[in-house]
Amino acid sequence: MWSEKGRFQRNPGSLHTHSRFSGTPMTPREIAGMAMEKGLRVLVFTDYSDREWRYRCGLRLTRPSVLKYGVREYLDTMEKLRKEFRDLIIISGLEASPFYFWEGTPLNLKCREYNRHILLLGLKTAEDMEDLPLMATGRSGFNPFNGNQGCRPYQALIDAARQKGLLTFWAHPEQEDDTRFFTARLFTPARPELLLETTGYTGFSAYPRGARSVPEPGGIWDQLLTAFCDEKREKPVWVIGESDYRKKADALDNPTTMFVDPVSTPGECTTALEKGRIYARDDPGKTLYLNRFHIVHEIRERCVSMGETLRVSGKIRVWVEMEAGAGIRKAVLVKGGKVVFSTHAARFDFQDTATEGQSTYFRLMVTARDGGRLLSNPIFLNPP
Ligand SMILES: [Zn+2]
Repeated sequence: MWSEKGRFQRNPGSLHTHSRFSGTPMTPREIAGMAMEKGLRVLVFTDYSDREWRYRCGLRLTRPSVLKYGVREYLDTMEKLRKEFRDLIIISGLEASPFYFWEGTPLNLKCREYNRHILLLGLKTAEDMEDLPLMATGRSGFNPFNGNQGCRPYQALIDAARQKGLLTFWAHPEQEDDTRFFTARLFTPARPELLLETTGYTGFSAYPRGARSVPEPGGIWDQLLTAFCDEKREKPVWVIGESDYRKKADALDNPTTMFVDPVSTPGECTTALEKGRIYARDDPGKTLYLNRFHIVHEIRERCVSMGETLRVSGKIRVWVEMEAGAGIRKAVLVKGGKVVFSTHAARFDFQDTATEGQSTYFRLMVTARDGGRLLSNPIFLNPP
């Protein structure tokens, strides 16, 4: 059972990076060069779609963004890099903020929600972006003077992006942002509940700013996965790690999203992201790996892994194999939102019985002794 067969590959991806298109000092080419040096396999550029805030009387503030520099130039730059860096899989994406609104009086102004971000992955044409319901494209039905609009602007963006075949991930769902700009205050409170209020998106980022509560056993992620098992949600929700690379001092290669299958094209990567064939890792030392996470039904000789569904009844085994330079502090197996097994061993197998007529899932949370951590995506267990 512990043979090489089925062992996860290690293809690290940096899924949230900003370049000069977002006003950072690094050009996309410099970032791609650095990605190669650091041994990354996948690099996803997610420059800001737009950063423009309009107030009354023609007052507006703009910062560098893809819309400001031109989406065609952005996509051309990525295409050139793909030819130059053939060992790196480069995916074009955006970090979009579909909504903000003004609160308070001109002397005590507050710009709310501007830092609530959704990553859009797999951009191919300029139209993919120009038609999106963003305030800056003029295609959003919302304006900044009517107060909070709840989840509606985000759902509109997710739906439009999905129609174009783009993947959508909630970025940093637990981040609170509070910035002063002259007399104005830019304020975005953490609101991970938006993960429950919106549907149809591909996943969310747990590392670095989304792991305090969302993936805890019984937390928001488990509520979402349970709703999927109960057929109250159409799609499961996958976890990713994002580097959120913005300046030279940031680590481009941590946190990462690890692709466990062989990938050689942007299309294979987006398919892996769409199917949950990935795990999220926050591990500055880069010694923590998930080598295997499978559910096996030995009598029927069936074996499935992350993102997949096993349809059986009767006895099953969950096989897990990890690797950590400093050793495992704790590996926790979560079944349907509850912890069913916990260990500090680097490999274990857990025996269970698939209950007739009941769908559930298993997922794994791992912490290493040096503080490295990872989150697997779930494996679903369904009645036949
Ligand atoms: Zn962001």
